[in-house]
Amino acid sequence: MTGFATRQVHGDPGRDGGPHGAAPSGRVIPRATPVYLTAGFEFEEWEQAGGHFGAGEGFAYTRTGNPTTAAVEQRIAALEGGADALFVASGQAAVTVALLGLVAAGQRVLAAASLYEGTRGLLLENLPRLGIEADFVDDATDPAAWERAIRPETRVLFLESIPNARNDLPDLAAVADVAHAHGLALVVDNTLATPYLLRPIEHGADVVVHSASKFLAGHGSVLGGVVVDSGTFDPQAAGALYPHLVAPSRTGGPSLAERHGGRARLAYLRETVAPRFGPTPSPLNAFLVGQGIETLSLRVARQSASALEVARWLAFRQEVASVDYSGLDSSPSHALAKRYLPDGQGSVFTFTLHDGAPAARAFVEAVQVFTHMTHIGDVRSLVLHPESTSHVLRTPAERAAAGVHPGTLRLSIGVEDLPDLIADLERALAAVRRAAVGAAPVGTTPVGTARKETP
Ligand SMILES: *Cc1c(COP(=O)(O)O)cnc(C)c1O
Repeated sequence: MTGFATRQVHGDPGRDGGPHGAAPSGRVIPRATPVYLTAGFEFEEWEQAGGHFGAGEGFAYTRTGNPTTAAVEQRIAALEGGADALFVASGQAAVTVALLGLVAAGQRVLAAASLYEGTRGLLLENLPRLGIEADFVDDATDPAAWERAIRPETRVLFLESIPNARNDLPDLAAVADVAHAHGLALVVDNTLATPYLLRPIEHGADVVVHSASKFLAGHGSVLGGVVVDSGTFDPQAAGALYPHLVAPSRTGGPSLAERHGGRARLAYLRETVAPRFGPTPSPLNAFLVGQGIETLSLRVARQSASALEVARWLAFRQEVASVDYSGLDSSPSHALAKRYLPDGQGSVFTFTLHDGAPAARAFVEAVQVFTHMTHIGDVRSLVLHPESTSHVLRTPAERAAAGVHPGTLRLSIGVEDLPDLIADLERALAAVRRAAVGAAPVGTTPVGTARKETP
């Protein structure tokens, strides 16, 4: 297998039939992946139409497949070390489609408690209306806690390789072992790590999902999502738990497992879940994500290295109460970071100011290089106040459990020059000091000494 940087530009040359991805017929050969911005594809012959509808051969309609999208799917599968991938319209669609391929009404999802807010809402509010309930594991590092929480109805274990926003890393391989001992699939949201820093399939994950809107695209101009499958579905071990993958088709034809072997899970998503629920991506968006992927390793290496420097710098500031970054020795996740993220610990993390929401507001209003917005993984550095935005629908106790306090800010470090980022943070902390002096009643302690925020 070629190296990571080669694969992000060329895919897996031997396997994908050439470095050009989707090559059009005819005389011109565009070097970039062409954008097939078309709803459908003409059938050249009568038999071709039947072949498509019968055996799923070739391309017919963009909701069931598109060459531009397929080229990007192959490239992401190659980066994750998976057998196949399905590109969908957003990360949220990727999580939804992946879960709907594994659970049915009356069954359950077992998830780490530290979750992206959209996924948490899906599990708490949307899937229950379809009869799918969720259980949560508070300490994702403890395999025994996962083991205890598995019920007969459980069909999927779900976690994030780097949880958003607290960076409390799970023990991936240990959770994968628990899942497999029960014949269950482990689904990992790898958005914050990216396959450059961590490939969950190498640690036992069965399915990997991404919000491609974040680091895979990197440019922050489109949304996209992807589901990658390890291709290791075993009908003997797991067929009884996932009967839809091993049963004959509705009309008595061969089962998905008979037709697709270890790739049955992804085939079910491609043939039955995604085209029916319909979160079809625009081929143009798939193309733009593909453009982003070509520089993934360069961006993530730099963003991750800068994030470590920024986290170290923040940890020594008197206005800062704590920094949640697994790259710091002080992090409870540091040992797991050394094992799972040796090449860098990512570039999204939170830190907490002593003086609560007023300090956070002063900080956000003073930045000039950082952008105040709700997004991550962009080439631009971003800042957000989770308490009043992404986590506003949680109770204070739920927020505190998620590490979101009134003074907590989330950073996503971009590719700008590090001294410019530090200067911007210094400017923002100076504004925090000024705000505290202005707000303090006469005779109270100055900022950043003994006043600890009570979470
Ligand atoms: C953003 C995000 C999602 C949702 O992705 P969208 O592309 O915004 O739909 C899911 N998981 C994680 C970890 C995310 O950061």
